[in-house]
Amino acid sequence: MRTVYVDNNATTPVAPEVMKAMTPYFTERFYNPSAISGWVHGIDAAIARARRTVSEFLGASDPKEIVFTSCATESNNWAIVGAARAHQKRRHIITSKVEHPSVLEVCKSLSKDGYDVTFLNVDGDGNLSLDALMDAIRPDTLLVTLMAANNETGVIFPVDELSAAVKERDPNIIFHTDATQYVGKLPVDLNHNFEQVDLISFSGHKIHGPKGIGGLFIRGGTSLAPLLYGGHQENGRRSGTENVPGIIGLAKACEFAERGIEEMQRVKFLRDQLEKELLALFPSALVNGAKANRLPNTLNIAFREIDSETLLHQLSQSGVYASNGSACATGSLDYSHVLRAMEVPYDYVAGSIRFSFSRLNCAEDVKTIIEKMKKKGCR
Ligand code: PMP
Repeated sequence: MRTVYVDNNATTPVAPEVMKAMTPYFTERFYNPSAISGWVHGIDAAIARARRTVSEFLGASDPKEIVFTSCATESNNWAIVGAARAHQKRRHIITSKVEHPSVLEVCKSLSKDGYDVTFLNVDGDGNLSLDALMDAIRPDTLLVTLMAANNETGVIFPVDELSAAVKERDPNIIFHTDATQYVGKLPVDLNHNFEQVDLISFSGHKIHGPKGIGGLFIRGGTSLAPLLYGGHQENGRRSGTENVPGIIGLAKACEFAERGIEEMQRVKFLRDQLEKELLALFPSALVNGAKANRLPNTLNIAFREIDSETLLHQLSQSGVYASNGSACATGSLDYSHVLRAMEVPYDYVAGSIRFSFSRLNCAEDVKTIIEKMKKKGCR
């Protein structure tokens, strides 16, 4: 049976060249970069090269601005908790209702510790209002954390505009963006965009790199308290023996992404084709975030009075792997916080499916998805 993987916002397969680059660092080049054996075998130098590659990929001005973490969840936790600890006199944080749980849950936990958190609303297309953001800013606001692109809908927040407005109001507010879904799909060049952003989270496994490696860009001059204390690795900013194969793999994945960024036009064509054909096939279906600026690879589509869990299960049995944009993983009636914030109609919210492409998909995949969907009873 032909399988079609269209769940690339969840994770991506490791690219063969990434795997090849990493492999020696599990075996003959296993050394600890902080040990004498690591120096002798140039492991610390390999990490330095990888840091330079990642930094150049993002257009950072200094490789020291890149710190390796275990994943974007850690990067997000660190950005938020680290900013709060470093700016103890301020007690207010601004975020949105549609952030990834690795942002939302940290903010909720800080609010239990006495911080005030404003969770901004979005409109029916998932867009954020600049006016609402500006109205929320207070003299004690320490951090604004807003995602670059939403993992469920692909809706892009205009981070350049938002961060510039925040910094103009108060340059001492730290601006963090969770760019986990943006990086690798759209260009990040810190000389031209994200110029007013202090902290950027990203992750290896969303860009054909391995799981268990991520990064945080920390603009020079930004004060951030460490989250992990210990052996002073990563220039004393993030302790823990370095995940050397992961770091090498992340750097290779950045090279792979850099070469593939122009392929995103083709990916967008596949996404648009699927969207058009599904809407023709199921006229009552709705595209979540239809009018918003969206990532080129993501389609979140809602079918009326359909249980997406059942549909996804049927699709997976016929070899199509998509994802659920509506119900939480436990299958309870706790529907997606993102779609709830967008006030997707009740008879659609349970029937939302996310198809997320990567450059490894092709036109044949769209054809297969349509064939399989034709057999389903969506309205
Ligand atoms: N933020 C966003 C927007 C994501 O999509 C994800 C992964 N689903 C994360 C953060 C967490 O990434 P990781 O798996 O690397 O912890």
